[in-house]
Amino acid sequence: MTGNSNEPVRKRVTILGSTGSVGLSTLDVIGRNSGQYQVFALTANTNATLLAEQCRQYRPRFAVLCDEAAARQLRALLAGSELATEILVGPAGLNQVAAHADTDYVMAAIVGAAGLASALAAVEAGKRLLLANKEALVMSGSLFMQAVRTRQSTLLPIDSEHNAIFQSMANGAATHATGIRKILLTGSGGPLRQLPLAQMSQVTPDQACAHPNWSMGRKISVDSATMMNKGLEIIEAKWLFDLDVNQIEVVVHPQSIIHSMVDYIDGSIVAQLGNPDMRTPIAHGLAWPNRIDSGVSMLDMTAIGRLDFEPPDLQRFPCLRLAQEVARGAQSLAIAMNAANEVVVQAFLDELILFTDIPLIIESVLEQTDTDDALTMASILAIDNHARQRAVKAMQRKGVSVKSSRAGDVNA
Ligand code: NAD
Ligand code: MG
Repeated sequence: MTGNSNEPVRKRVTILGSTGSVGLSTLDVIGRNSGQYQVFALTANTNATLLAEQCRQYRPRFAVLCDEAAARQLRALLAGSELATEILVGPAGLNQVAAHADTDYVMAAIVGAAGLASALAAVEAGKRLLLANKEALVMSGSLFMQAVRTRQSTLLPIDSEHNAIFQSMANGAATHATGIRKILLTGSGGPLRQLPLAQMSQVTPDQACAHPNWSMGRKISVDSATMMNKGLEIIEAKWLFDLDVNQIEVVVHPQSIIHSMVDYIDGSIVAQLGNPDMRTPIAHGLAWPNRIDSGVSMLDMTAIGRLDFEPPDLQRFPCLRLAQEVARGAQSLAIAMNAANEVVVQAFLDELILFTDIPLIIESVLEQTDTDDALTMASILAIDNHARQRAVKAMQRKGVSVKSSRAGDVNA
């Protein structure tokens, strides 16, 4: 309670990955609704300059950076500012702010496997978790959802498709909705949907990241260009909504206006529509079951005029084909696919491999992965590490010089 009984108690929000694309959108929504939300903690990998700016503006109690050098830089930047922000370092710092007794909501917006431990720490502490980091569920789905249930954490999907599905399932009946025939997971097809196939091997990182509808971080942008993103989202949806993989159908919808649909046994299809802007699902996750202003402009249906749909082209998008197979298989395969994908996407962004090498290397890693479903956190991290090493070796065999440290080792 606050001293003044007329003032609502503001929810204290931790943003894991506040300097990224989803992090920035989250701060924008909180800024528009500062009577209801306040920032409790902000975190970044190494971008101390932007984190310092965010600290001055939002005055968090904690700021976390991944190493001492970045933390020193932040301390220097904030020296003399009279901010009371405490600076923490590394994965232990992330877990501390995610699970802190004084935070109410946690936005998990770190990219990749590096975001798993802190997202799970928030769940273990029973927080409301706004989950943008899909890789966490891809890696640890069963264990993660079990923790959500036992700790009675409120899990709100922020990935736009999953948020749309959640909203289309009577807004909260999510995991208990009945009468669902299937869900239609929409995807734009990314920037390369119509590129002549012969040109795919020449695609540059900037071309792959030039998404027609969404502005996102570079890893997920490449995932959208390969459609691995949709593959990861199939696995994410399977765990979030307790669905059989056969109930999840991918539909290419180039305009990204319908963000996904639920197909019910009575013939109804319920969809969520809106402009492609992550502030809508973020605002939904913050305010649920209520609604707040997100700053997103109204959808003008007559200006859009038409909505198109087509089946995905699995020849053009071999990553989607691989992920569809993996989604039906053992959990170890999903972990290995996700880890290998992180390594090869970084190598592609560093211009060490071709765009068309991405699925080839992932497939070779999958071929070397044992199937295993009975997983603990230790075995999940071990499978992840092995797959990263195998992906690096597969690239080295191609003559690519890549160090495993660049691969985002989750134990680093
Ligand atoms: P981004 O690259 O823009 O931002 C990532 C954030 O994580 C940054 O703040 C960065 O400092 C931090 N980070 C990176 N590596 C880290 C590490 N090793 N340790 C600690 N912090 C680290 O990414 P993004 O586009 O905002 O995506 C974030 C997550 O949300 C991803 O899992 C992505 O799949 C998911 N997502 C993003 C969007 C989108 O529109 N951007 C949409 C749906 C889902
Ligand atoms: Mg998505």
